[in-house]
Amino acid sequence: MTVDNSSASPGVLRVVIDAPLRTPFDYLPPPGLLPAGVPLGVRVRVPVGKRETIGVVVDYATEASVSPDTLKAVHQVLDSAALFDPALLQLLRWTADYYHHPLGEVIAAALPRALRDGAPAAAQVERWTATAAGLAALAADGARRAPKQQALLALLADHPSGMSGATITDRLARWREAARALQQRAWIERHQADAAPAVPRPARPSPDAPQPDALQTDSGRTAPELSAAQVAAVAQIDASAGQFAAWVLQGATGSGKTEVYLQCAARTLARGGSVLVLVPEIGLTPQLVQRFRARLDVEIAVLHSALSDAERLAAWRAARAGQARAVLGTRSAVFAPLPDLGLIVVDEEHDSSYKQHEGGCRYSARDLALVRAQQAQVPVVLGSATPAFETLQNLIGGRYRGLALPRREDQAPAPRLALVDVRAHTVRHGLSNPVIDAMRRHLSAGGQVLLFINRRGYAPTLLCTACGWIAPCHACDARLTVHRASSQLRCHHCGAVEALPQRCLRCGFAVKPVGQGTERVEETVRELFPDQALLRLDRDTATGPEQLDAIVEGVLSGTARILVGTQMVTKGHHFPGISLVVVLNADQGLFSTDFRAAERLAQTIVQVAGRAGRERIQGEVLIQTEYPEHPLLQSLLSGGYEGFAATAMLEREAARWPPFGRLAVLRASTRSNGGALEFLAAARQLAPSTREVRLLGPVAAAMARRADRYHAQLLIESAERGPLHRFIDDWLPQVETLARARRVRYALDVDPIDIQ
Ligand code: ADP
Ligand code: ZN
Ligand code: ZN
Repeated sequence: MTVDNSSASPGVLRVVIDAPLRTPFDYLPPPGLLPAGVPLGVRVRVPVGKRETIGVVVDYATEASVSPDTLKAVHQVLDSAALFDPALLQLLRWTADYYHHPLGEVIAAALPRALRDGAPAAAQVERWTATAAGLAALAADGARRAPKQQALLALLADHPSGMSGATITDRLARWREAARALQQRAWIERHQADAAPAVPRPARPSPDAPQPDALQTDSGRTAPELSAAQVAAVAQIDASAGQFAAWVLQGATGSGKTEVYLQCAARTLARGGSVLVLVPEIGLTPQLVQRFRARLDVEIAVLHSALSDAERLAAWRAARAGQARAVLGTRSAVFAPLPDLGLIVVDEEHDSSYKQHEGGCRYSARDLALVRAQQAQVPVVLGSATPAFETLQNLIGGRYRGLALPRREDQAPAPRLALVDVRAHTVRHGLSNPVIDAMRRHLSAGGQVLLFINRRGYAPTLLCTACGWIAPCHACDARLTVHRASSQLRCHHCGAVEALPQRCLRCGFAVKPVGQGTERVEETVRELFPDQALLRLDRDTATGPEQLDAIVEGVLSGTARILVGTQMVTKGHHFPGISLVVVLNADQGLFSTDFRAAERLAQTIVQVAGRAGRERIQGEVLIQTEYPEHPLLQSLLSGGYEGFAATAMLEREAARWPPFGRLAVLRASTRSNGGALEFLAAARQLAPSTREVRLLGPVAAAMARRADRYHAQLLIESAERGPLHRFIDDWLPQVETLARARRVRYALDVDPIDIQ
């Protein structure tokens, strides 16, 4: 049906809202406005059924998809300009298409909550003006006024367009009380207005202007003189400014990758471009933020998941207004609004926290950074000591360009890796004799020791020594972890907490904790080394940024001689005093059903090993294992990460796993046992037949029952991207209908990072 509109000009606005709906809603513009008066990318208040919600205009149409008499008008247009520039809107559309997720939800995920709730898109400042009555009173000058009120009224009368609070303060100290009095008499008024636009950006230097010197582009504070490899990396990246180029900056921890980011960022900023730096969830430490702030001469907005709504809104506004010209943030910062984007950096690009793997749109911020760089025609730098196999494959295929940073000359040589066969030695609560000996050696030589174990708590199992009962989680197919300090049993999968029983709940006999967690390792080490100060770093000790900071400080200052920690120790921190690193249990990753487990284990070992070595003294890394002859460990030992990757990628290629094939997974869960499997089997029946796409499953998840729901999955595999996405486009709407009918929770995950 055509909306009353004689020409072919658009008459209808297409609006998406934060809801699982694949098609936008149609609305008429508000009375008195033409659609063209409502730019794409602005927020609007719209009626939906009996309620009102906030949506975003994403398109125009000449015809409505509903009949004209049910077509409603937008209630209110909330923004005068688009929230996203066209490039960012394009990225959001790309995300919705590629991950097969409703655009309205993708947009909502990219916006601070306050904006979803209708807050103004620009920072607000108060503006004070004199009213007509105020001016008349001033002119009549009849009333007796306090001198301060008189002065304020006169000041505002001199500034008919109004004054901000800050400018008034510059002229008139302590004026607020006078303002209140004048406001009560309605002689002056206070308004909220958009903050003034940012100061103009520096002009782009002409092409033949001399290149800014690397040292001077920093704000000065302790920029080291770059090594030849760093200079070359900066020069190459910088030479690709203004066009798309994907760089892989590969270098061990401490090789100086961050220095390269800083120099490239400084040059981009000097040219008038803005900079987006993505870091892993756990890598965004106060130290890193501090380093960027100290070295870049611009305001930096920091975006991460622990911000309050108000902080997130302020950071978003500062970026969009061009006031903060660099954004440093975790996953969702890939959607940060940044005018004149000139460079994107993805630090530790292999890190799994870049992938959204729960709830909502399951995007990879690393992959989206590449799409954004391509759309904006800017370089993107992927930095890592252990690049993801996807990234390595793109390097081999010539789509990305590699830049290697060798260890710096003033850096310690690469640490020596050795395996310790735990079957051949006495082991005391997880620590083998050779490890205890090595600890003694390093500690007495003045070194620090890092013990890595990828499990927090005291022990992963509580066992009855009489009847064999094991404390189970009642909501998951999982054992409860013993947390001794808090006298609790906790489920690390659903969060359930119980009191730690002293006796078996089945037979009443004594129970004992079996296996090791960080808490128990701490206890053992304290017994073995009572004179050495020890700190533990895991989610139970680093409960907030201050606690994390205190632990990091304790290790950096040398107060602590031994650090026991989980995955948290592997990211974002340099501990130059550590000379011995021990991986207490490497075996969890060796025999997993997940095709990515080996890659992740190798990355973890190399990242942990990277903490060893100081002041030109070679560090030592000991890996405890029951399988010293395992080919993965052997290839890692003989060939380093590259050698390991070459071997492991051959296996991936043979099995056609990513990056040699394309994968998506449809996951489902139900309250009833078997419901998820039945749903996926029915979904499989609905699948259009094609030779190019293979369906595998459905199978129950590795942990089938989790948080009282039963989980299952169906893999969708194809050699090429195109057929996979066409298949999903055809199939997903039917899956959706089926899921609604059966009340199943489901989610599609494109490029999943684990398929357990
Ligand atoms: P990465 O990001 O690769 O882990 P960083 O850039 O953080 O490495 O460098 C590690 C440490 O070495 C930092 O303290 C940094 O200031 C210092 N550093 C980096 N490059 C140089 C250099 N060329 N000369 C001296 N010190 C350097
Ligand atoms: Zn028992
Ligand atoms: Zn549980």
